[in-house]
Amino acid sequence: MGYVIRTEEQQAAIDGLRRFLDAEIDPVFSKEYRDKFVPREKMGAILRELTQFGLITGTVSEADGGMGLDWLTMVMLFEEVAATSIDLSVPVLINSFGAQLVAKLAPAHLRERYLPGLLSGDLFCSMGISEPDVGSNVLEIKTRARRDGDHYVINGEKTWISNGSYSDILICTCRTGDDPRRGLTHFLLDRKEHPYEVRDIHKIAWNSQSTAQIFLTDVRVPAANMLGNEGEALKNTLWSFERSRAFVAAQGVGLARRALEEAIRYAKERRQHGKVIAGHQLIAAMLAEMATRVDAARLLTYRAASMIEAGVPAEMEAAMAKYFACEAAVTVARQAVQIHGGNGVTRDFLVEKLAREAIVLPIPEGTTQIQQLIIGRALTGISAF
Ligand SMILES: Cc1cc2nc3c(=O)[nH]c(=O)nc-3n(C[C@H](O)[C@H](O)[C@H](O)COP(=O)(O)OP(=O)(O)OC[C@H]3O[C@@H](n4cnc5c(N)ncnc54)[C@H](O)[C@@H]3O)c2cc1C
Repeated sequence: MGYVIRTEEQQAAIDGLRRFLDAEIDPVFSKEYRDKFVPREKMGAILRELTQFGLITGTVSEADGGMGLDWLTMVMLFEEVAATSIDLSVPVLINSFGAQLVAKLAPAHLRERYLPGLLSGDLFCSMGISEPDVGSNVLEIKTRARRDGDHYVINGEKTWISNGSYSDILICTCRTGDDPRRGLTHFLLDRKEHPYEVRDIHKIAWNSQSTAQIFLTDVRVPAANMLGNEGEALKNTLWSFERSRAFVAAQGVGLARRALEEAIRYAKERRQHGKVIAGHQLIAAMLAEMATRVDAARLLTYRAASMIEAGVPAEMEAAMAKYFACEAAVTVARQAVQIHGGNGVTRDFLVEKLAREAIVLPIPEGTTQIQQLIIGRALTGISAF
């Protein structure tokens, strides 16, 4: 897995989580629900167990009811979840950042009402930014929130929304003004009180959890359900992206590491030309390249997390980690399939699933191209968007 410096506490936390994931969770996602949708009750029960290890709870301070872990420890723990299951890592990620936004931005009455449920794993959150015509350019968001007395009336459509059909609450980015940057505002919608329609999307992979379209038709939300100030959604989203990109990078590291582990195991068992294939130099070279990519991705991820923890601006470093780790996952998973030969494309081996899952990673939370544009802008001061 490569040598990394960890404190004794971090290592103990990782070891405890790994034992739990191997014994209780891996069979759920690799066998029982392989490529099958995990019902909300089952996913909720798993999330509740994970909160004891600092997942979801870690992103919120102890004063606000969380565990208040440091960012480096959190990405270490999150890598373990992703190495077990990308599907599981998605609700963990979204609920973590939903809880963090509620803790940071919500008025007291919303914090008191929703934060305990988010932190215990009882409530699911969705984050609605993307729309059918709005992906990489969030400034073009069209979903409109129109003021009507002490309410807002919301109309629009969101798409690709993780946790969509699980969600109890939706943090919805809406247009409240015409200025592209200062005209966006966050609202917290409670699915029971401010109903929105949800339709799941079937994908190449990541189908054990929900990615959905969300339709908002004349949804009346109290003005008191605004998160942060009017017009500050873009600023707050960019703040959150810097952090969440370090997490998505850890998803890439976890997936790539699992593919490497599977490839090593197979290469030590499979015999061709009179010896195990690990003894062939071209296989050894491929494994060396895979392991180096995994470690490079992990080190970029740790750097971004350490900078975030230190309160240093890390937009470029988080973009580098997200870009490199997610592309590394694609490359390493493909190489793992190659090492498995024909077996690698069958459902009898995990690498087939990992390769499909890896292809998705360079898209959410800003595509690879968007990360490259962010890095380019940081290097030259010139925007190429
Ligand atoms: C599994 C999954 C989960 C998701 N979860 C969520 C969620 O929970 N909430 C949410 O709001 N969204 C979510 N998304 C949406 C995700 O953020 C968008 O898919 C992503 O931002 C890309 O937008 P798009 O798909 O519209 O692609 P587009 O923006 O249309 O991009 C298409 C292609 O053009 C490239 N491109 C775009 N602009 C430029 C440019 N200026 N220069 C060069 N190339 C460019 C892109 O890199 C890409 O290759 C999710 C997506 C997926 C696949």
